[in-house]
Amino acid sequence: MTGKDLHNILAKVQKPARYLGREINAVQKNPQKIKTRLALVFPDLYEVGMSHLGLKILYGLANRQDGVYAERFFAPAEDLEEILRKEGICLFSLESHTPLQRFDLVGFTLQYELSYTTILKMLSLGGVPLRAVQRKVGDPFVLGGGPLALNPEPLAPFFDFFVLGDGEEVLSEVLTEFARWKERGRGDREAFLQEIASIPGIYVPSFYEPLYDGDKFIGMRRLKEEAPLPVKKRVALELENTFYPDSFIVPYMQIVHDRAILELFRGCTQGCRFCQAGYIYRPVRERSVAKLRDLAGKIIQKTGWEELSLSSLSSSDYSQITELIEALQQKFTGRQVRLSLPSLRADPFSLSLTDKVQKNRAGGVTFAPEAGSQRLRNVINKKITEEEILAAAEQAFTAGRRHIKLYFMLGLPTETEEDLRELVQLVEKISNLRQKVKGKKYPLQVMVSASTFVPKAHTPFQWEPQLGLLEVKRRQQFLHEQLRQLKGVQFTWPAAEMSNLEAVFSRGDRRLAAVLERAYALGSGLEAWSESFDFALWEEAFNREKIDSRFYAYYKPALDDPLPWEHLSSGVAKKFLQEEYRKAFQGEMTRDCRQGDCLGCGLEECPVRQVKKNTPL
Ligand code: SF4
Repeated sequence: MTGKDLHNILAKVQKPARYLGREINAVQKNPQKIKTRLALVFPDLYEVGMSHLGLKILYGLANRQDGVYAERFFAPAEDLEEILRKEGICLFSLESHTPLQRFDLVGFTLQYELSYTTILKMLSLGGVPLRAVQRKVGDPFVLGGGPLALNPEPLAPFFDFFVLGDGEEVLSEVLTEFARWKERGRGDREAFLQEIASIPGIYVPSFYEPLYDGDKFIGMRRLKEEAPLPVKKRVALELENTFYPDSFIVPYMQIVHDRAILELFRGCTQGCRFCQAGYIYRPVRERSVAKLRDLAGKIIQKTGWEELSLSSLSSSDYSQITELIEALQQKFTGRQVRLSLPSLRADPFSLSLTDKVQKNRAGGVTFAPEAGSQRLRNVINKKITEEEILAAAEQAFTAGRRHIKLYFMLGLPTETEEDLRELVQLVEKISNLRQKVKGKKYPLQVMVSASTFVPKAHTPFQWEPQLGLLEVKRRQQFLHEQLRQLKGVQFTWPAAEMSNLEAVFSRGDRRLAAVLERAYALGSGLEAWSESFDFALWEEAFNREKIDSRFYAYYKPALDDPLPWEHLSSGVAKKFLQEEYRKAFQGEMTRDCRQGDCLGCGLEECPVRQVKKNTPL
């Protein structure tokens, strides 16, 4: 595409900065000198995708290699999509404005089930055949990575392979193997897939066949000898020495998380039973304070960002969090650099950390009690008491915070009307704390959000159905009625239909691919955005494919039934998940394994367990 063509397109769309490229730190290479072209594709708009850490890591890592050029693709907004279709222009990269179909490898980030039809749209707009079997020599290989790669079955026919676990470990090996295959003169596509199927962490879905007995999934059969069973996720055990970018691209427009990100550690051992990230990102691996201090300095120097987010699944669990904050504050003394802690537990210690890093406390804080009653918090293994929540909330208002955001989950297993009443009472108690803080000239707000529980693969609640759609709506209405009577409280909740669809695909199997293809053909677009989500379209897609979505959202397999994702291993043993499931229904908590002995979750290699072994009692 010429510069003039691009100019003509950008002149007709809203927010052209989404497609312009050439931001600060965007990589420019001479395509003539490139042997392997890698498309890094995020199936959502620029402002969402550019906030994603995984994409930044892979972009930096791939572009460090000679002969490899990694370029970015984001979903086009409706206006650009219309132009591309009308004028027959192929979806193009941000760096060199090259059509997607001209890349060797097209890698999608799989973060959210509702982005699945956006993937199909981007392949189609990019001139890449939708199904892997339709692709010929010369077409790109399509791969997927990210959390949902651990149950990608609904997407299986559209992908050549998936990368399970930490991409840093696998990417270089795939690129090396691809370069070799290309040098040998590109044999048939299957020859390449056979080569990479033996790389640990690679799952080639066409080498496996799901088996059914009537409606019931009964197992996965290997079609090739080289296909491992199970496929184990890869883990970057030495996070300290694992690549981390310092030249983050600085966008020309505001993005969702408009700041630099410093990843403190990976993994979480809190053991919340609904949380997929808590199981699939194990084990916990930390970077040292010295390493983080050094990285922080380079990132700020190369980007000029004024905010640095100390990011992890639960940042206050970083073993040297206080030392790290002090080291960073010392490093940035006299400079305009704010630190932020986005994911904290609702306890006074976590809040004191926020107070330490935020001089201006006029904003708010966010807590996620998840459930309103202690009984239900025990069921989900959320280790926070009402006293701690109230103490943290009081501390927040006293320190000058103007609002507190509270995240809850509705429809958790065993939830009763009494639990919802206790949720309302908890919010009321927090709201009443506002009276204690006298003399404030501004209104203090409590913002409550209740998402709907979605059972996720590889968690102890993978055997639980989602609550029925009508019942979810009834409970949302109940909370709405109750909470609107409280002063200074705002209540929001996402559409129950979106969570319902998420549940269908999160525990889905390969039969759902037909529904995705049909929904795409019917016009499904950016479904992750409520304004373009169309549930009626999905109902039609399920009807036309004669697949009952309720089966997937509401099925309750027996604990020893084969599950459609069990050929893909997160490393956590099934018997550990079964035990956690049993304990949930007894209301028994499981402690964090970093505080005490290893609990035997099944990981083959775990630095936490190793440290415990080496620590004299
Ligand atoms: S192997 Fe042991 S120490 Fe490591 S995450 Fe699992 S339970 Fe915790």
